[in-house]
Amino acid sequence: MCYHRLWWLSIGTESEGRVSARSLDGNKIRDQMFAELKDEVRLLTAAGVRPGLAAVLVGENPASQVYVKSKIAACEHLGMASALLTPPATVSTLDLLAVVEDLNRDNEVDGILVQLPLPPQVDTKRILEAVDPAKDVDGFHPVNLGRLVSGRPGLVACTPAGCMEILRRNDIQIEGANAAVLGRSDIVGKPMALLLMHANATVTICHSKTRNLPEVVRRADIVVAAMGKAGFVEADWIKPGAALIDVGTNRVTDAKEAERLFRNFPERLEKFRAKGNALVGDVHPDATNTAGALTPVPGGVGPMTIAMLMCNTVKAARLRRASPKFSLTQSSAIAR
Ligand code: NAP
Repeated sequence: MCYHRLWWLSIGTESEGRVSARSLDGNKIRDQMFAELKDEVRLLTAAGVRPGLAAVLVGENPASQVYVKSKIAACEHLGMASALLTPPATVSTLDLLAVVEDLNRDNEVDGILVQLPLPPQVDTKRILEAVDPAKDVDGFHPVNLGRLVSGRPGLVACTPAGCMEILRRNDIQIEGANAAVLGRSDIVGKPMALLLMHANATVTICHSKTRNLPEVVRRADIVVAAMGKAGFVEADWIKPGAALIDVGTNRVTDAKEAERLFRNFPERLEKFRAKGNALVGDVHPDATNTAGALTPVPGGVGPMTIAMLMCNTVKAARLRRASPKFSLTQSSAIAR
């Protein structure tokens, strides 16, 4: 029996004769990180540096309102300062640039978050590039992306940084592993591939033109799926024992699609029928019987994105405002 099979058996949980993958619980790691960050915020505040996040929410997109609300709530929970700016949906690029410039100049603001998507009349790239790289807690600025490419310290995009934290805090071996990253967006796929490469994985980046995707995935010890395609990665593509990080967040409303996804999960199908929709990742739920470990959707990568945003804000405050002599037991995530 191969090594992977043994490892798989040692970490999975058995129910009804089937081995299920270990669940990589993002909520649990987020709570651990929040506890670490609370201490950090308390010490920084006592030293006169209370970390602060400013969120810019343009218009009234309901999904964006929910995201921003949860980010502000996280600041409050950690004892950080927060501000919410709400320009109207009709705002021009120039007016929004002025908002960002004000925040750049405000010494109490350590992190600036411009909630995407912006309305079509606004030049999104120009806005994101106007954010001071030292306050770019989303890690979207080309300066921070350049630092990541060259392996220098900087602020890293929250979702891929959160995926790395999940792997590390679950002792999943990255060095030497074959990793497949499915998706090459600027905010998830590309930075994810770079982070894995810097951690000494051998990385294959896949996209919509990749040939024979199942074969690439079958070779991977670590799979990061970030395509936005519900249950696209089939269970029989997964190398037994592999670790799956499912970034995809897809709302399924079609009954046939739900039957395809939940054919072996009667409880989830029941819930779908009662509610009329369900949230699923890019990996088919059946993969739990092949993988060694996987992130649930919801409750895997999602909570980590917010945890890393808080972490980046505290890091930005420390780097920009705390005296170089200021030392405390930093959480390992902030130190990275
Ligand atoms: P995106 O910008 O739409 O990028 C999707 C990527 O997937 C593209 O690179 C695309 O390839 C690739 N792709 C599409 N179809 C494919 C196929 N059949 N085979 C292989 N690759 C394919 O999406 P994103 O912003 O990176 O987000 C991806 C997913 O993650 C979405 O579901 C999003 O909601 C979710 N997400 C979740 C969080 C969280 O906190 N949980 C955060 C961010 C994003 P091409 O480049 O060739 O088009």
